[in-house]
Amino acid sequence: MNNLLNYIAGTWQEPSNGLWLDNPEPATGEIFSRIPDSGEQDIQMAVESAKKAFPIWSGMSVEERSRIMLNIAQGMKDAFDALAEAESKDQGKPLSLSRVMDIPRAIQNIEFFATEIIHFASESHGGKGVVNYTVHAPIGIVGCISPWNLPLYLFTWKIAPALATGNCVIAKPSELTPFTATLFAEICMKAGLPDGVLNIVHGSGLQAGSAIVAHPEITAISFTGGTVTGRHIASIAAPMFKKLSLELGGKNPSIIFADCDFEETVTQAVRSAFTNQGEICLCGSRILIEESLYEKFRDAFIEKVQQLKVGDPFEAGTNIGALVSKAHMEKVMSYIELAQEEGGTILCGGKIVSPEGRCKNGWFIEPTVIEGLNNSCRTNQEEIFGPVVTLQSFSNEEEALLLANGTRYGLAANVWTQHLGRAHRMANALEFGIVWVNCWLLRDLRTPFGGMKDSGVGREGGFEVLRFFTETKNVCVKF
Ligand code: NAD
Repeated sequence: MNNLLNYIAGTWQEPSNGLWLDNPEPATGEIFSRIPDSGEQDIQMAVESAKKAFPIWSGMSVEERSRIMLNIAQGMKDAFDALAEAESKDQGKPLSLSRVMDIPRAIQNIEFFATEIIHFASESHGGKGVVNYTVHAPIGIVGCISPWNLPLYLFTWKIAPALATGNCVIAKPSELTPFTATLFAEICMKAGLPDGVLNIVHGSGLQAGSAIVAHPEITAISFTGGTVTGRHIASIAAPMFKKLSLELGGKNPSIIFADCDFEETVTQAVRSAFTNQGEICLCGSRILIEESLYEKFRDAFIEKVQQLKVGDPFEAGTNIGALVSKAHMEKVMSYIELAQEEGGTILCGGKIVSPEGRCKNGWFIEPTVIEGLNNSCRTNQEEIFGPVVTLQSFSNEEEALLLANGTRYGLAANVWTQHLGRAHRMANALEFGIVWVNCWLLRDLRTPFGGMKDSGVGREGGFEVLRFFTETKNVCVKF
């Protein structure tokens, strides 16, 4: 059994309370490692170590910090295969996906913010006999809490800008996917990151996560996870006047007009629906199709979905791996049942899969497509976060917008049309923080990332996140 440890003050630490959590492999259901079930004492140790490290790290020039972060990125490139394999074993996603998406993107996160910080300028406002200049100073100790769906990808997406801006970090990966964060700590040690600058504490949300959120010396919280958790975190952190960035759930529409590039749209709609088993906050799970194209699109879509291979994440050719946990698999299955109770018809999928061989006890579900539901039912309103999508039709732009915006979420929408004016009209009226036109998950890290409505507060990415991780001070000088 592999015991993963906390990384505090540059050293490996067992949990203070001596308690551990089991960590199973989703594809087999077998427990392959254990992680510390950390609590307040471990978070306190991490805070003490971060306090010692803060003057050293924040006192370095941006070039020095950047150089160390680029060493980390190089260490990740050297450990590429190990990281990709660990991610798939821990999360259940196909190894091919870890290799083309998760690990390259995690490396890119570190490289991007290591270099972006060099170009982060502050503003100056001149007047008669007066000059104002604005300083963006590190906050101090910040908390980064990340989810299980894109483990290292989202872990580094927070940590990289937090470190680049000179903060010391207390980070907690999801207890369901702790593995690559631990490998990342090893890489940081070798790359020359000073002790205590980054502290990784494992454990449950209720214990370790809550202790981070409630700690008075951790003055900013960057959280990615579910909307309900985000609301709870806000209720603790907001009265303490902590800076808060919340990246929460989604129920994203893929809006398909009859004038779309048909083949490309079908291919990308399948990708947007089922990549990572549908466990991406940006997945298009409500597919809205213009009436005149509905049947043609539905048939072509189903044909492609039926070609997706569900099975062992480590087998070449697997498109859909295991769901992250048994509890999550059961939750997704309960939504498939609910959809039928609500009057939906399953066009394909809908069942648990038990692959032959080593994965027979793993947590797999067929890619599932449902039609015949209205927009207000629970299936179309609640985030399922699995390989389940619904199809609905609309008659014109106005109705497409009503359906698309008719949810409490506002994370990402994708629109498929060849009509330039329509594309812009839709983008303008969609109540989502991210709108993709004729593409999906095409990311430029300089752009703002985040959701409206119940999908979150604040934006990550680009200079937005560097502002989040700094305190802004204006200095006014009369001369
Ligand atoms: P979750 O909210 O259960 O957990 C996320 C993280 O928060 C985990 O590390 C967990 O241990 C921790 N946590 C849980 N309760 C906590 C508490 N009371 N205090 C402090 N920390 C706590 O979410 P999840 O199930 O891991 O992830 C799935 C959700 O994440 C989905 O809703 C998905 O849409 C969302 N998500 C959003 C984005 C985005 O960028 N908007 C990206 C990925 C995932």
